[in-house]
Amino acid sequence: MSLFDKYINKLKKQKLADEAVYIVTEDSVSIYGGDVSAELMHTANELKAYCLLYIRPSEPFMTALEKAAEGGEFAPNDSETRTFLHTVPVADDFADVSQALKRRKAVFVRGHGIVTAAPFGAEQAFIFASSVLFSGFVKFFSDTGEAALLGKSCDTESALRLLAEYIENFHHTELPELDRDILLSDESILSSMAQAGRATVELGLVDSFFGNISVCHDKNIYISRTGSSLDELEYEIDICPTDESTCTGLTASSELASHRKIYETPGKQVILHAHPRFSVIMSMICVEDCENRGKCHYACIKKRYVGSSPIVPGEVGNGPRAMVNTLPSAMRDNDSVTVYGHGVFTVSASDFNDALRLLTETETAALNEYQSILLASQTSTRSPR
Ligand SMILES: [Zn+2]
Ligand SMILES: [Zn+2]
Repeated sequence: MSLFDKYINKLKKQKLADEAVYIVTEDSVSIYGGDVSAELMHTANELKAYCLLYIRPSEPFMTALEKAAEGGEFAPNDSETRTFLHTVPVADDFADVSQALKRRKAVFVRGHGIVTAAPFGAEQAFIFASSVLFSGFVKFFSDTGEAALLGKSCDTESALRLLAEYIENFHHTELPELDRDILLSDESILSSMAQAGRATVELGLVDSFFGNISVCHDKNIYISRTGSSLDELEYEIDICPTDESTCTGLTASSELASHRKIYETPGKQVILHAHPRFSVIMSMICVEDCENRGKCHYACIKKRYVGSSPIVPGEVGNGPRAMVNTLPSAMRDNDSVTVYGHGVFTVSASDFNDALRLLTETETAALNEYQSILLASQTSTRSPR
């Protein structure tokens, strides 16, 4: 199977796209995944970007994207968008795509879906497309949730309908039974990590290229490599000594420093980190007259929670605003912590079963809280004053 087919299958298996087509322009043109419209073909020829991916998102993602795109180019304040996309340009038809793709990695085309150009191939295009999908979804729901909470007019009806559809098709609460006694050997640790990573992606708690996972055992940290797919971790795990500030390879997750600090507290054995959509959305709804509004992703001062998971600010990377300075201390007393606009970290003292359960519970709490905000705003706008 080609890499192109592999990523088309992933998008379909995770039910993220109804259609997914790659156009590869080398000496000749190859098409994977279905038929391509003449306009899209024209765009591919014009751009000569090597690899073009078009996806038509499934519902409720497509409608959420349409709504996020109503005002044109959009940029929610989540970490995936800030890191990978900056902004998502919006086009009215395929004719405007090549212009937009000259300055951005991906574009949303109204009525059609996402087009992304990737010089490095299938995997890169897949990452960009799934980031846009995430970005538009987060944008629509976080804006609507915030407006509802502030009593501003917003599309509560659509949000509730899309939310119900999302819960029905994408929110899973039945958890698989993961390996126990994982610390018997290197082999058992590595296979338990691969298993937990796959389960996290299959449960829809993260798109495969994001998130990370680790185990601490016998003065070593076993951690997924940066840029690895969480559902294909078999050969993508580094083993780093706990007492060294760096790991020999440069491949270990960029979040190794945070993991190492979390493990300084005794009784923490495994860490699972994912980007569950509604935990991210709820973490971004900070309306309590926060002094640092606009800077909440690194300097929020409000004490807020998703369920019982405290929300902390913190950026990706190693700078003074990085989560390595906020997350580990919050994890000392909590087994689940949510980083503003980014995702959830959970820990467990044994295997991945508890960590996965906590992740799912945090996301369930986020969904419930979100739904209550919308329902409360509906009642308050309907009741006579
Ligand atoms: Zn992350
Ligand atoms: Zn804030």
